[in-house]
Amino acid sequence: MTIILPVLADQLSLDLASLKAVDRADAVILMAEVMGEAGAPKHHKTKIAFLFSAMRHHADALREQGWRVDYVALDDPENSQSLGGEVDRAKARHNADRVVSVEAGCWRLIEAQRSWGEVLSDDRFLVSRAWFADWAEGRKRLLMEDFYRLMRKRTGLLMDGDQPTGGQWNFDADNRKPPAKGLVYPAPPQFQPDDTTEAVLALVEARFGDHFGDLRPFARAVTREQALVCLADFVETRLARFGDYQDAMVAGEDGMFHSQLSALINCGLLGPMEVCQAAEAAWTAGVVPLNAVEGFIRQIIGWREYVRGIHWIAGPDYESRNVLGAARPLPSFYWTGETEMRCMAEAVRATKQNAHAHHIQRLMVLANFALLAGIDPAEVSAWFLIVYADAYEWVETPNVIGMGLFADGGLMASKPYAAGGAYINRMSDYCRGCAYDVKKRTGEGACPFNSLYWDFLARNRDRLGRNHRLLRMYDGWDRFDPAEQARIQAQAAGFLATL
Ligand code: SF4
Repeated sequence: MTIILPVLADQLSLDLASLKAVDRADAVILMAEVMGEAGAPKHHKTKIAFLFSAMRHHADALREQGWRVDYVALDDPENSQSLGGEVDRAKARHNADRVVSVEAGCWRLIEAQRSWGEVLSDDRFLVSRAWFADWAEGRKRLLMEDFYRLMRKRTGLLMDGDQPTGGQWNFDADNRKPPAKGLVYPAPPQFQPDDTTEAVLALVEARFGDHFGDLRPFARAVTREQALVCLADFVETRLARFGDYQDAMVAGEDGMFHSQLSALINCGLLGPMEVCQAAEAAWTAGVVPLNAVEGFIRQIIGWREYVRGIHWIAGPDYESRNVLGAARPLPSFYWTGETEMRCMAEAVRATKQNAHAHHIQRLMVLANFALLAGIDPAEVSAWFLIVYADAYEWVETPNVIGMGLFADGGLMASKPYAAGGAYINRMSDYCRGCAYDVKKRTGEGACPFNSLYWDFLARNRDRLGRNHRLLRMYDGWDRFDPAEQARIQAQAAGFLATL
């Protein structure tokens, strides 16, 4: 009896649930590069190259452990170019009568997996889908902070008995420093592509050349060993300052003190607990401050697990939610970066070059602009899924639909993350070199974020006006005299007409 174990591109872990569930002698691991996943939607070139290269290296690592691996390359002439087609072909090739897979991170694939055979829970996450659904059941508000505290207790991370280390659960208030002069941002490790990666880069150039994004230089980690080097480097060189400056943005400094480990964690080359334990160990050793370690661990055991839970309880229609009725098409500068708004141009440039931008660039620049301008959430969501190497539906959809665009009406966030130019000016150096004047609300050269911010509040008053967390903002709007309100709205309309 042969059992086929399909391993998906984001399941590159040697302790995947399906590998623990069967006898190695009976199993054939199936890995397949298919156009059905890489080509639709048209993912960033670097994202495809990263995943194909990591998959090929992972297949080698599995073989070294004694697994039989059936690897179907993209240009295999027999490749059906769909995962379902490859499972069927593998069953026939190996005369297999059983398929055991681990649940994928999107509704579309999970439905397909059920037709293949058994689907196991993905125990690389710290809580199961069922556990999260139980936690959410009957709650009036699904507060991340409540979930996070529970996760601290469950994992024991940064706990002294049943109390949080340092007497505080959350040091977020300490973690909002603007960029300081004279800071040096250590670059993360760069890896010379080996023959396997070079072959993948040539393949991506040939087959996905019209996709968004730069492919070279390509210096990403693509193996477990390289991923561990990245983790150690982050803890050693950037974690100490991550907390203080995690919300700061500096032109030309794409990584700053961020870990940039998300793509490695989300594809399985690093585990969530091991990265948290590495950070906690640095705190225990006294080499990094508590606010940095707590802020980092909160991203992993808090936000990461929480958004995944939200994705599954929200259901397959979550991506189509649009409670604010935003309908504007995605402006072309999300692809080209050609805009005089320096903050947007910088965030798109970083995205194009690296298939990565840090969370404040994503949330407070790219998503914030889309929120204020009333861009169709489905288009924004599709863009985020395409352009980031760490993006899969389970993580991208809640972050964009819920957190970034408030299109779910507040399932995730208690208020929209809307901000005018003042926020971006406070947290970055972008405005100093911008063609627009961040201090101006209206008139020639006024920063578009300013009029769009007020216009967003005014045009969504029916929906948002009673939100107690926005009352102060609506008070601000009401203090403008009607003539100024009319000028602001005309300014916003004039700008939107240029998109
Ligand atoms: Fe962005 Fe406005 Fe600042 Fe220009 S002035 S960088 S558009 S926030």
